[in-house]
Amino acid sequence: MRLLKTILLSLLTLAQVALCAEDYYKVLGLDKHATERQIKSAYRQLSKKYHPDKNPNDPTAHEKFVLVSEAYEALSDPESRRIYDQYGYEGYQQRKQQQGGGGHAHDPFDLFSRFFGGGGHFGNQPGQRRGHDVEVKVGISLRDFYNGRTTEFQWNKQEICDACEGTGAADRVVHTCQACGGRGVRTVRQQLAPGMVTQVQMQCDACGGRGKSIRHRCKVCGGERVVRRPTTVSVTVQPGMADGVRIAYENEADAHPDYVAGDLIVTLYEKEPELEGEGNPDRVDGVFFRRRGDDLFWREVLSLREALMGDWTRNITHLDGHVVRLGRKRGQVVQPNHVDTIVGEGMPKWHENGDSVYHKTEFGNLYVEYTVVLPDQMESGMEKELWALFEKWRAKKGVDLHKDSGRPDKPIMHDEAHEHEEL
Ligand SMILES: [Zn+2]
Ligand SMILES: [Zn+2]
Repeated sequence: MRLLKTILLSLLTLAQVALCAEDYYKVLGLDKHATERQIKSAYRQLSKKYHPDKNPNDPTAHEKFVLVSEAYEALSDPESRRIYDQYGYEGYQQRKQQQGGGGHAHDPFDLFSRFFGGGGHFGNQPGQRRGHDVEVKVGISLRDFYNGRTTEFQWNKQEICDACEGTGAADRVVHTCQACGGRGVRTVRQQLAPGMVTQVQMQCDACGGRGKSIRHRCKVCGGERVVRRPTTVSVTVQPGMADGVRIAYENEADAHPDYVAGDLIVTLYEKEPELEGEGNPDRVDGVFFRRRGDDLFWREVLSLREALMGDWTRNITHLDGHVVRLGRKRGQVVQPNHVDTIVGEGMPKWHENGDSVYHKTEFGNLYVEYTVVLPDQMESGMEKELWALFEKWRAKKGVDLHKDSGRPDKPIMHDEAHEHEEL
């Protein structure tokens, strides 16, 4: 069943790409009002998805990969986007041809390497270097873990310099190093002793071993080829995800022209709740919930009268704003530290494939523990009346010290039998 679904889905995707070959917005899955950032982000996702290195068994992947970079090129430049919006695909192509040789068309792998490094190819090539994975921790409120939410965070990411396209040169021209002929190493003759000469290979000091040199340093990156700047990443918290869940963003860690970017690993942890303000717009009581796995815990305070006499209700506003009602009828006693189990009012149970027609969200339990608070001091009138009342019932039933002590008649636990025998 799932396989069939997957096949159907991929057929649909295929049809979409084939049909809308000239609609660049559709190719990137965007509408005409897409922002520059959305265009970039769509390119990042789709170019990775369709990269031929990742789809060795899919002969259409290359085509789709080329189409995605074409769409990005057309829409990422404000001038060509304007022409595309006004005159459509035909107009855009015409202008590109008028500009001679298809304008400034990039090799799709070149474009890819400007985002992800590694010469435009993905990790599996022998000898290809891969950058470090980067770990980022993001605090999420319990409320968002319960309801699910798409949110954003920023981190300081190393990116390939846009201005010089990762060359380090202001004119984007890279020359072969004259000193080493592009090999990155130089052979130096060393005299060990009179008549004894050896050849030593040393890293070329002119180019730092890169085999390449530039004439004019890029002003943006200072010739470093990379720049570090705050990058916004969108993260989707699905209802019921675990505290400490790790989400991997493939090849989204620091980028560099010389290696394939590693993965960005985002760990979601439960942050301290906020009682007021932005973190709690509905002012739900949920800030007092404590979570353990799929279950929630809550402490409810009862007065002496409520615990002893019953006839009380409480409304707890849950994490999504719905109300859970607690209460006892008159005459129902609640012992201190008693725990009510409210089935199905805990956290949603997270499933990898989310909600579907195959299953509905299940929930853990809510455990409510009661704390009974006795008054520090009673008003003297009340104290007198209560005293008289207890005295009256004591006299009526006969004074029984054992009963007054409140101790159980029989030992509760087998193990404790001997300790309690004497009492
Ligand atoms: Zn630069
Ligand atoms: Zn050199």
